[in-house]
Formats: sequence, C-alpha cells, structure tokens
Amino acid sequence: MKIGCPTEIKPQEFRVGMTPDAAREAVNHGHSVVIQRGAGLGAGFMDEDYEAAGAVLLDTAEELFATADMIVKVKEPQAVERKMLREGQLLFTYLHLAPDPAQTHDLLESGCTAIAYETVTDDRGGLPLLAPMSEVAGRLAPQVGAYTLQKANGGRGVLMGGVPGVAPAKVVVIGGGVVGTHAAKIAAGMGADVTVLDRSLPRLKYLDDVFGGTFKNQYSTAGATAKLVREADMVIGAVLIPGAAAPKLITREQLSEMKPGAVLVDVAIDQGGCFETSKATTHADPIYEVDGIMHYCVANMPGAVARTSTQALGNATLPFMLSLADKGWRQACEDDPHLLNGLNVHAGKLTYYAVGKALGLDV
Ligand code: NAD
Repeated sequence: MKIGCPTEIKPQEFRVGMTPDAAREAVNHGHSVVIQRGAGLGAGFMDEDYEAAGAVLLDTAEELFATADMIVKVKEPQAVERKMLREGQLLFTYLHLAPDPAQTHDLLESGCTAIAYETVTDDRGGLPLLAPMSEVAGRLAPQVGAYTLQKANGGRGVLMGGVPGVAPAKVVVIGGGVVGTHAAKIAAGMGADVTVLDRSLPRLKYLDDVFGGTFKNQYSTAGATAKLVREADMVIGAVLIPGAAAPKLITREQLSEMKPGAVLVDVAIDQGGCFETSKATTHADPIYEVDGIMHYCVANMPGAVARTSTQALGNATLPFMLSLADKGWRQACEDDPHLLNGLNVHAGKLTYYAVGKALGLDV
C-alpha cells in the first residue's frame, strides 16, 4: 500500500501524523511511504530523517493526496484537504465529526473510507488513541500551573515543592482519570501536597492502591470540593462525563473564597470547562485573571509539546496503521472489532451511530 502523510495545515498545529520511525516500520512491512516536504519540522523531524527511513518526499499536498492509498494525519482534514480526498481512499486521523456537519458532508461526498482515532476502542473500554493526548495534557498541567503560580505571571508566588522549613503548594485535582492521574503524579513529583477528587469509587480504590503513598484522594462532593478549593494554591480540572459537557464544579462566587493569586488549570476546557469562569485560551495568550484568580484554559494543550505529542500519538497509532496497510481496511476491521469501532464513514455512508444521532443523519 502507498501511505501518505501531509503537512498539518490547521493553525497552531505542529504535530505530524507519522514519525520517521513509523515510516521505517511501514517500509519494512513492504509498503511505500510518501511524506510532504517539511511535514515533520514542527515536531523536530527533518526531511532527511524521513528519507533515511526509506520514505519519498513530495513537494505538495495535491501530489500526495493524488497518489496515496491511505492518508495518515493528526487533525481532521480541513476544507481544502477534503476536496482532495477521493473514492476508495482511506483516511486515518482524528475526525470529531459529531459537532462538525460541514466536514461530515464533505467526507460523505468524497466517497472515502474514514477511520477516526477518537472512536477506536480497547479491551478495557478505553480509547487508546485519545489516551496519549490525555497523558500529555495531564503531565503538562502542573508544569503550566507552576509557571502561572509565579509572581510575575499573576500567581501567588508559591513554589510547588516549597523548601526545607516551608510548606509545599497545595494542589487539588478534580477528576482522577487519565488526565487527573498523570497531573497528580507530576505535581506530587514536584513536591506538592496533592489531593485527587473523583466520583467513581472503583477509580478511587485504584488510585489509593497504586498511588496511596504519593497523593491523597477523596470522594468528590460539592462540599469536599469547596473546602479543598478554599485551601488550594492550584486546582486542576480534569473531569469527563462521556458525551456531555463538563459539569461546572467551581462557581464564580467561590473564587472570592480562594487565596488571591491561586491558579485554576482547566484541562476539561475542550468539553466546555469545569469552572464557571473558564473560557478557552490559546498558547499565544494562555492565562487570564478573574477576581484575583489566575486561569489557564488552553484547549489543545498537547500542541505546546508537539514533539512529545507526535511520538506518543505515533506509538499508539502505529499497530493500527500497519494492520490497515497490511490487510486493507476491510480485513483489518473484520479481525479487530476495536478498529472497526473507528470506522465513521465509508463510501458515502455514515457508519458511526453517535455521529448520525448528533447530526440527524442516517447511519
Ligand atoms: P477520563 O474519562 O479518563 O477521566 C475523567 C474522570 O472524571 C473519571 O475518572 C470520572 O469518574 C471523573 N469525574 C466525572 N465527574 C466528576 C465529578 N463531578 N467530580 C470528580 N470527578 C469526576 O478522561 P480524561 O482522558 O482524563 O479527560 C479529562 C478531560 O480532559 C476531558 O474533558 C478531556 O476532553 C480533556 N482533555 C483536554 C485536553 C486539552 O488539551 N485541554 C487534552 C486531553 C484531554
């Protein structure tokens, strides 16, 4: 199969769909790989790295889309890219079709077969191609929160780990899933005094068994949250209710009870945010203040560490990409029901129930 990886064109997107290592694996499996010149630069991968891996460089996206049997990307195809997709072509990338009728319409019209990273599943009910980005965002949250806590950035001027004789920062993480667990691990690693809140007792039991000595955990009620938030230097919002907007767990009124200069990092902002005063920000201007409390609400946090994110995503997508290339999408999906769950569009038909329901289209 000929696998093509174009340069991402969505603003502020520096990741790339294939690393040189992934290209080499595909070549070793007997496939040919075409990469758009410069596609890896934002993530620190040079054209020569791809050539050394056995890939062929192409100058334009037009050439690449015209020749490749499968397109491997990061972000959903933009309008100009959708025009280049053709019947029978396989597209493997994040799609997020439910809130995007224009993209859905174009993919249906193209006749392509589109497999969405975000709906591929695993044996434990998880989403293995979303998890790496949650891991990245979770681990980044205390890092950006610690920077925001610095006086010059509007914060309280508190050091995460304190020093001998001075207490460390108090960090509260609301939501102990993938984001929350990784955030808590890093915050605790920086020396902070960390408490994780969650509503799931099995999850709290897991956190207690595995991380009981590293950070505390507590059942998430409005009362427990309010008390911890009043004492916190940093609160990290990491909740998810699948298929729903994030619940608002800190009201504007509560900000006045918090310590001046405390920091809210709302990782759940891509689902609307879990603090009443959250509004999405960008890497160019990530921090703002409301009632003396600093907010960091960047909706695409992994973009800040494009190289790590590209590698993490590439590790997760590689086995699926190889299976699609080795067997063709039909056999690969027949052999793996989890990959089949990724199938969103085929030959002008929607094949994913939740997208059809959200957009009022037949599946
Ligand atoms: P997850 O499903 O692994 O974890 C969510 C956790 O929230 C679960 O353990 C659940 O029990 C808990 N929860 C739900 N309601 C709660 C409540 N009221 N109080 C306390 N806990 C509650 O999800 P995840 O992968 O960790 O993702 C968390 C959020 O981060 C999602 O909104 C996701 O979209 C977002 N995210 C954002 C970025 C970014 O760049 N901003 C990147 C990745 C993920």
